[in-house]
Amino acid sequence: MIDEEYRYFLIIDYKYGDENYNQGDLEKDYDLQLPFYLYAFQRQNPDLKPAGILYQQTSLKKDQRGKEANYKMKGLVIDLVSVLKRIDPTLSKIQGVRVNKDGSLPQNSRSFISRDGFDELIKNTEKVVSGVSQRIAAGDFVIKPILIDIDQRTKDSISCKYCKFFGICYSKNKLLGGE
Ligand code: SF4
Repeated sequence: MIDEEYRYFLIIDYKYGDENYNQGDLEKDYDLQLPFYLYAFQRQNPDLKPAGILYQQTSLKKDQRGKEANYKMKGLVIDLVSVLKRIDPTLSKIQGVRVNKDGSLPQNSRSFISRDGFDELIKNTEKVVSGVSQRIAAGDFVIKPILIDIDQRTKDSISCKYCKFFGICYSKNKLLGGE
């Protein structure tokens, strides 16, 4: 979404399931989707400024539907009240976004990022993307499932969720501490 007047842009990724964005994941070369969209869009549109990167869940269970709180977007937004009000005039559609009585933003919310913070995020994303590209070009495909995000139901690495070798993979089982 582009705000033609303020020259800001907003990235919203509509997700079937419930997703949240964790700033620390970039350091682990993980969960790059929103930062990567941010980076790519900013590169193509250098005259626009980022206002936010958000996930929105599109599919809700029957008992969750219809309740506005369940449709809230999650992610990062710029720490400028004037821009936030352009995105969401009611300040009620994005998780963690609210304004104090004196008009300031809460200090400890992890939903806000400064303009410099966005620049830093774009720079770091470029570094990660470049590093991953170089490793792919060099044929570096080491079996290394993510160990920081484990599927709570199966207790396996989230990286292996859709792999057809899931049940017999020695590397995965060894890394996860099994046989
Ligand atoms: S199960 Fe093994 S081969 Fe499949 S994604 Fe996981 S680590 Fe890779």
